[in-house]
Amino acid sequence: MTKEYDVVVIGSGPAGYHAAIRCGQLGFSTACIEKWQNKDKKTVFGGTCLNVGCIPSKALLDTSHKFIEAQHDFETHGIKVSAVNIDVPAMIERKDQVVKQLTSGVAGLLSGNKVDTYSGTGKVTSPETVAVSDPEGETLELRAKHIIIAAGSVPIEIPPTPIDQNTIVDSTGALEFQEVPKRLGVIGAGVIGLELGSVWARLGADVVVLEAMEGFLPAVDRQIAKEAAKIFTKQGLQIKLGARVTGSKLSGGKAKKSVTVEYTDSDGEQKATFDKLIVAVGRKPYTEGLFDSSLGIELDERGFIKVDEQCATSIPSIYACGDVVRGPMLAHKGMEEGIMVAERLAGKKAQVNYELVPSVIYTHPEIAWVGKNEEELKAAGIDYNVGVFPFAASGRALAANDSEGMVKIIADAATDRILGCHIIGPSAADLMQQVVIAMEFSASAEDLGLTMFSHPTLSEAVHEAALASLGHAIHIGNRRRRA
Ligand code: FAD
Ligand code: AMP
Repeated sequence: MTKEYDVVVIGSGPAGYHAAIRCGQLGFSTACIEKWQNKDKKTVFGGTCLNVGCIPSKALLDTSHKFIEAQHDFETHGIKVSAVNIDVPAMIERKDQVVKQLTSGVAGLLSGNKVDTYSGTGKVTSPETVAVSDPEGETLELRAKHIIIAAGSVPIEIPPTPIDQNTIVDSTGALEFQEVPKRLGVIGAGVIGLELGSVWARLGADVVVLEAMEGFLPAVDRQIAKEAAKIFTKQGLQIKLGARVTGSKLSGGKAKKSVTVEYTDSDGEQKATFDKLIVAVGRKPYTEGLFDSSLGIELDERGFIKVDEQCATSIPSIYACGDVVRGPMLAHKGMEEGIMVAERLAGKKAQVNYELVPSVIYTHPEIAWVGKNEEELKAAGIDYNVGVFPFAASGRALAANDSEGMVKIIADAATDRILGCHIIGPSAADLMQQVVIAMEFSASAEDLGLTMFSHPTLSEAVHEAALASLGHAIHIGNRRRRA
């Protein structure tokens, strides 16, 4: 039997469910197909982000941060606690409950917006049809005027360290440890490696991060990355740069396995043994079985579905958005693309501003940035002013005993338009968001400087950094001009 829809969406991750809900709101008859099943073999919505990504990782980051606070910070505030212990299975169970609440919430939002959901794997069989194979092996055909592919991404595996999801795990397995590994290895000092490494380091694991590249966090402003390396090292993360993993060997009995990792660095061949190893070397677009190549949907050289700025593929009725297409693999980027596609189908002139996609690393302190960094501006030959304000001079940060890091604002030397904001510090993600809004309105550093900020807030650090770039911060802060 064939069912007819205006729009069929494949995948219910952030990109897919945003696209489907917006289509529903705009009056399109809409279907959303999802193949993800939880441990009980029930279909769950929300994709990587809700099930094994943004949300569960943040749940564990929040728990482990509270643990550190209770162990080390409470005493500074005069709060005496006798013994602080971590119940790892309870922590994991709480994380699972948060995931369950949110994934059920997405199911409710889809039905509330009149989106029909289908459990199973979707395959595009023609520019207007999608075959859905359900978990029981039954197949159904959906016919649609428009198809939106939002199939997301999966972790990259590397031959030297095959994942067994027990001793050698990917990011999904790293969210499921039932005890704190004594020795934990992490391959990859990217966002996911640093976040998951931090979780287990805070809970007591001896963490070594092996990173093939020589530079730490190459996408991050150098001043901020340098500060981050200093802070993470102080926190106990051992980050080995220029360390390329070439092999691994499992040893020990069934119950107590360990893994010896071989890697090369500037001193030659090295070995290190861990109880668990997290492979966090990036993610790749997931297009397996989505369509036959004869259909004519083009992939780029890295396997992403080729789309234009508005997420249109080479076939007029088919769109693709989120991690399965070019651009940063971030939930919010996929969400905005999903909404853009839905609105374009309704004839609206929606756009995504790819110049202002914010990035965050949810360590503590957080690292957040948007726009251009100093290195990029220098390479482009653009003159700029920089204002830096350290949290050590923020009354509110000191009151909270959380004053590491800085806010850095970069503005065009000629026009004063804000070109970038780079923060390492408490609540960096939320603080940076204020500057994203300012930048969306093409604000100048002076505009931020003239805005009144509540006292005492962490946000004042943003204000002072803007003032610093103009050369007149009140409390402290320094200005540099590159002309
Ligand atoms: P996905 O979320 O991957 O969803 C795709 C969905 O499509 C899946 O549910 C999949 O089952 C389904 N699907 C695929 N093929 C088919 C098919 N043929 N038929 C039916 N269904 C199909 N991003 C952030 O912005 N902030 C963070 O803090 C953050 N933290 C992260 C932490 C970790 C550990 C990880 C792994 C990722 C994190 N990310 C974060 C990245 C974020 O999760 C992704 O960018 C986001 O989920 C991409 O959304 P998407 O909708 O494109 O794809
Ligand atoms: P990201 O793409 O931000 O998730 O980061 C993944 C990181 O893993 C990158 O910085 C890569 O350089 C790193 N990486 C990839 N392969 C290896 C390897 N074999 N050994 C060590 N690091 C690696």
